[in-house]
Amino acid sequence: MNILVCIKQVPDTKIIKINPKTNTLDRASAPAILNPYDAHAVEEAVRLREIHGGKVTVLSMGPPQAREAIKKCVQIGADQGYLISDRRFAGADTLATSYALYKAIQKLMKEDGVDLVLCGKHAIDGDTGQTGPGIARRMDIPPLTNVISVEEVDLKNKQIKVHRKIENGYERIQSTLPCLLTVEKEINEVAYSPLPNMIRAARYNPIVWTVDDLDDVDIKQLGLKGSPTIVGKMWPPEKSKGAEMLEGDVKAQGEKIVSILLEQRELFEMKEGVNE
Ligand SMILES: Cc1cc2nc3c(=O)[nH]c(=O)nc-3n(C[C@H](O)[C@H](O)[C@H](O)COP(=O)(O)OP(=O)(O)OC[C@H]3O[C@@H](n4cnc5c(N)ncnc54)[C@H](O)[C@@H]3O)c2cc1C
Repeated sequence: MNILVCIKQVPDTKIIKINPKTNTLDRASAPAILNPYDAHAVEEAVRLREIHGGKVTVLSMGPPQAREAIKKCVQIGADQGYLISDRRFAGADTLATSYALYKAIQKLMKEDGVDLVLCGKHAIDGDTGQTGPGIARRMDIPPLTNVISVEEVDLKNKQIKVHRKIENGYERIQSTLPCLLTVEKEINEVAYSPLPNMIRAARYNPIVWTVDDLDDVDIKQLGLKGSPTIVGKMWPPEKSKGAEMLEGDVKAQGEKIVSILLEQRELFEMKEGVNE
């Protein structure tokens, strides 16, 4: 079973700061890590390979330092990793990202064939959740999103059964293979890497492709040129003022609460233009 996992290197959003002048992410303020959802996708691919045999390949688009995220996947148990990296990919929105990844997948499919593509549910920085379905659309295969468990893979009849999260619960669905899954964290626990994997990962050199290594690429669909999305504005969420401790006896506290509520109502009415 040949499984391809798309993985992204992201800044650690638990640590990252926002540049107050530009209101954009200050990527230098946080270390780069493997997108946590993608670690679960790689773990699941390794689990399926252990049951069904085959190979786990990881693929990423990013700057040269994204090689570290690929090495992390080798540590989890991936067999090989490809990085597509070129200035012509830069400035890509999700449409251009999914196109570039699709072109690399097409080339990998010529070499080996792919039975299943895995992605994370979303990347913790861009957070659109669009890349996986975008790749599936381009490959013309079913996208099964928010998967929390892979119940059965029938390679002979090219079928897969998964459990996925939906808005008000869960559903169990069956699809043909190949298909693309986007996975939730609940799908598995990322196991502690055994020493041989760590040694292999430390020595591993991911294969790096540029645009020129891909076949039949329409340059107009890559990078900024191929990105119709425009980010109008970005701003950090408003900080909560926190709790206010009221002082005085019960009567004084009650009066304070009423005055706060009246003040809030006035502010709300001004904002909504209720009395205009
Ligand atoms: C106009 C514009 C310009 C941009 N310019 C840049 C830029 O110059 N540099 C930059 O880093 N970002 C840039 N971005 C952000 C970039 O478009 C997104 O990071 C990218 O498309 C992935 O979207 P996402 O982060 O929402 O991932 P999601 O769609 O939330 O990711 C879901 C899953 O898709 C897979 N995936 C996502 N991205 C990749 C990847 N790169 N490689 C492999 N698998 C992946 C992973 O499995 C991931 O878990 C730009 C965005 C816009 C709108």
